[in-house]
Amino acid sequence: MNLNPVIIQRKNLRLKLWDDVRPMNDEQVKAELIYMKYGFFDESGFNLPIEPDTTPKLFHLCQAVRERLNVHEKVVFQLDNRVRVQGGCIVSGNDQYPSIIHMSSGAVNTLSEDELSVLIGHELGHLINKDGIVSFYFNLKYKKSGAPKKIAHWFNVYRLLSELEADRYAYLACGDLDTCISYEYKRIGGIDIKKFGVPANQFIEGNHKRVQMFFDRGQIGSNTHPYDAIRTEALHIFATSKNSHELSSRMYPLVYYIDKYANEII
Ligand SMILES: [Zn+2]
Repeated sequence: MNLNPVIIQRKNLRLKLWDDVRPMNDEQVKAELIYMKYGFFDESGFNLPIEPDTTPKLFHLCQAVRERLNVHEKVVFQLDNRVRVQGGCIVSGNDQYPSIIHMSSGAVNTLSEDELSVLIGHELGHLINKDGIVSFYFNLKYKKSGAPKKIAHWFNVYRLLSELEADRYAYLACGDLDTCISYEYKRIGGIDIKKFGVPANQFIEGNHKRVQMFFDRGQIGSNTHPYDAIRTEALHIFATSKNSHELSSRMYPLVYYIDKYANEII
């Protein structure tokens, strides 16, 4: 039995949201197809495909992470020319078009292979959980009118928990907390943790205090992402809990505060 409150609550909210926003007619499904078609051609046309003939080492790394996480559906990997360490995932809801995972050249230039597998794992996590599909239909239904308060709350919490869930896949992709921490260091601050000789546990200790400070202030992040400190805290809990009961009790406050303050960021 899974006792991880992030997984339970996220799944629960996804079901409720899907009930509310799922497509009711062919026009809506057609809208998704058009979005995928243009999204696919547009992204593909402006990004560098990660293929055996363009970036062989990176291609094999992407495939290795995909196999590690048991992702069998169609997905293409692409590189975009941005300096920040970042990635993205466009989830396809139909077989006609593959999903797209892209990563920045900044990520590839800055990260080690192991750290890159953290980024790829995170984006594959979004693909596994089909996060983009719910968002697509939510926006289709509520973009003009705005969502009722309760639904908007569900959607905010769902998106924030989806990031923590994707981070769990990132951890599963590399299997090493220290690598996840050095990745986070580079993603957030753009620097190598070794440069300042900071041991990972020292960073974790300070991070714990920062999380508490945010909760005391009633702040949890933007409407799409929890603060990095909260993400790092969740990652640490995933990686160091000895059993599912311990994981549940340590993770519960994070889910509680995300739910409590999600309305503040609407
Ligand atoms: Zn994400």
